[in-house]
Amino acid sequence: MKTLLETLDGGTQWLEKKGIEDARRNMQLMMCHHLGCSKIHLYTRFDEPLTEEVLEPLRQMLQQRGAGVPLQHILGTVEFYRRDFKSDARALIPRQETEELVELVLAELKQRGTSQTLKVLDMGCGSGIIGITIAAELGDRVAVTCADISQDALQLAQENKSALGINNVTFCHSDLFSAIEQKFDFIVANLPYVPLPDKPTLAPELAHDPDLALFSGKDGLDIIRDFIPQSTQHLNTDSPYPNIALEIGIHQAPEVEKLLAEAGFSDIHTSTDIAGVARFPIATYAQ
Ligand code: GLN
Repeated sequence: MKTLLETLDGGTQWLEKKGIEDARRNMQLMMCHHLGCSKIHLYTRFDEPLTEEVLEPLRQMLQQRGAGVPLQHILGTVEFYRRDFKSDARALIPRQETEELVELVLAELKQRGTSQTLKVLDMGCGSGIIGITIAAELGDRVAVTCADISQDALQLAQENKSALGINNVTFCHSDLFSAIEQKFDFIVANLPYVPLPDKPTLAPELAHDPDLALFSGKDGLDIIRDFIPQSTQHLNTDSPYPNIALEIGIHQAPEVEKLLAEAGFSDIHTSTDIAGVARFPIATYAQ
């Protein structure tokens, strides 16, 4: 019978051979998930023998991971901004860099006065990570609307809202602003921005994200090109603060800044992510 440590080592080596990055961490997380224990607890159980009954489902997870199924789908959950969100094929898997977008938006919103509830829109919410995190972090200070074209994504976002016990979020099924009449104090959007021609070069894990959540025409900007001018009709213009923040892909900042300027935004600048990529355009629409 194999011990827990032998299983961890064997699985790690097998994943490495399959070319999986961070093989040991992947194996640890699958084992923790399957055995229902924390990483620390895993270390204390290294000598424990694992029965065939325990090993068989673990082998299946390993097979899936080796075949390129994302870890987040195998575990069914992903940590985002210190909260666990459900993640499955209904929406884009939350990415680490999007935590930086949330951080920027929170910093912006925290500077505003508390006298009035801020209306925030998360356009293209997917699993709801951005809007739900903002609602959870700022509580009564915000009322968040999460909008998406995908009913599947909205269903997942709704499940995440319920699981986290968040109240100040509502959902809207809408193709960009087609079903939205309200105005907002802030709009945040991580829309699809991957150029379609990049599809064959992407990591195999990305084949498990919905195409609808990733791709946006030849240069990746088709949806953002529609979104930016439409957004101006849905922004309250009575404050001098930035009121739009986006996530975009590598090399897209000059074009997106131009689109923002053409639509009438001012104070446009793009913050870099931790890897130094110009990733988060922020701007102000005021009159
Ligand atoms: N950051 C994602 C990727 O490059 C894309 C997310 C998106 O299109 N919004 O894999």
